[in-house]
Amino acid sequence: MDALLPEEIGAIRDTVNRFMEVEVNPVMDDFEASGTFPRDLVKKAGATGLYGSVFPESVGGTDMGYLVASVISEEMARNDVRFSACINQQSSTCPQCIYAGGTVEQVMKYVPPLLAGETIGMMSLTEPAGGSDPLGAMKTTAKRDGDVYRINGSKIFASMANETDVGVLLAKTDPDAGANGVSAFIVEPKKYPGFDARPIEMQGLSKALRTCAVFLDDFVVPAGNRLGEEGAGFKIVMRALQPGRVTVAAKALGVARACFEDAVRYANERELRGRPIGKFQMIQSEIAEMAVAIEASRALVYEAAQCMDADLPSNRIASLAKYHASQTAKMAADKAQQIFGGYGLAVEYRVSWLKSYADLFFTGEGTANVQKIVIAEDALGYKVADRHHGLTGLRDPRKDDVAKERSGTAVD
Ligand SMILES: Cc1cc2nc3c(=O)[nH]c(=O)nc-3n(C[C@H](O)[C@H](O)[C@H](O)COP(=O)(O)OP(=O)(O)OC[C@H]3O[C@@H](n4cnc5c(N)ncnc54)[C@H](O)[C@@H]3O)c2cc1C
Repeated sequence: MDALLPEEIGAIRDTVNRFMEVEVNPVMDDFEASGTFPRDLVKKAGATGLYGSVFPESVGGTDMGYLVASVISEEMARNDVRFSACINQQSSTCPQCIYAGGTVEQVMKYVPPLLAGETIGMMSLTEPAGGSDPLGAMKTTAKRDGDVYRINGSKIFASMANETDVGVLLAKTDPDAGANGVSAFIVEPKKYPGFDARPIEMQGLSKALRTCAVFLDDFVVPAGNRLGEEGAGFKIVMRALQPGRVTVAAKALGVARACFEDAVRYANERELRGRPIGKFQMIQSEIAEMAVAIEASRALVYEAAQCMDADLPSNRIASLAKYHASQTAKMAADKAQQIFGGYGLAVEYRVSWLKSYADLFFTGEGTANVQKIVIAEDALGYKVADRHHGLTGLRDPRKDDVAKERSGTAVD
């Protein structure tokens, strides 16, 4: 597959690998041991250009597109998936919502520092009543009070919420108006009172880059930090989630490759009955099944990214890619663990905890069932998966140069 990619993408892959091998891989266990968020490393990743591929240079991006973004996510996750946990908040969901729905002033103020890794992002949509039905589950409200909104309610699984400087949070401004009653806000929890983020203990996931429960008690958001019109928030966020799905699929692919590479190495090293276990045909069968699934996932992930780069309909292919890559990650993690025998359960070997990330990618950014619903309803003719293509009327970071083309419009 690599041989089919343009040479410059191979060079970017090398850059990511060098960055991870030099800066991240040697120190990530220390961050995990102390439970410290690697803020300086995120900044270095930003300075290396790892977060800006789908944004124009005018906002600090590298304007290289979704295929590059996918390769970066894949390679980062292959090296150390724990460090890749914040990539969507820095490079996709959070800045993309701001870019998609914000004024020029909001975009220029908040997007460049996120892409540079100077501020830490967050995208908080999910609520305790159910992530697969974010609209129906949303109980959090935002009420206008003069120059500010006061937000009350709670969020769940808000990744990096305990570290975030700038996030996007969804709340209902009109609880009776369905999707048109949801507004999106740029939130700055360190600046304003009422935001309490508590990391959740997650089995096998990073202790340094955490996902959190968030409690909002009259949390203050300046009215000028609303994204778009009141009630436009749901559309804005749905627009930003699709690219996130492709990069999550790429991360799942990275995890599958990590499992495969570890399994191959171990199968060659571990000797039983006087020969490497890789010589046993049942081990070979596992290795072969992993290799096939990985190549198939890769083809789907790259195709989804290439469709997005070509501005072709991509919702259906993104669902196929996310579903297949997360299945592949789960399967590869399971097989790698078996190949490692008892050592596959020892925390010292990463195959013991890569499985948790495979499970996360199976669930996060749209569960496997949700992807299957999109794929099947499209196939059955109930709902065309790509029906929204070109209809959102929202800004597209690939086509717009916000600094050049837009004049500022204040929210109020
Ligand atoms: C580590 C981690 C990090 C996360 N980070 C973020 C974040 O930063 N921001 C954020 O907003 N969210 C985040 N999430 C939330 C994630 O997107 C949700 O967990 C996901 O959307 C599923 O929601 P849920 O957990 O409430 O499961 P539910 O929605 O309750 O689903 C439970 C089960 O029911 C199935 N199901 C749901 N609907 C149907 C249906 N119609 N037909 C058949 N089966 C169905 C699901 O597939 C699932 O198997 C994160 C989650 C995790 C675990």
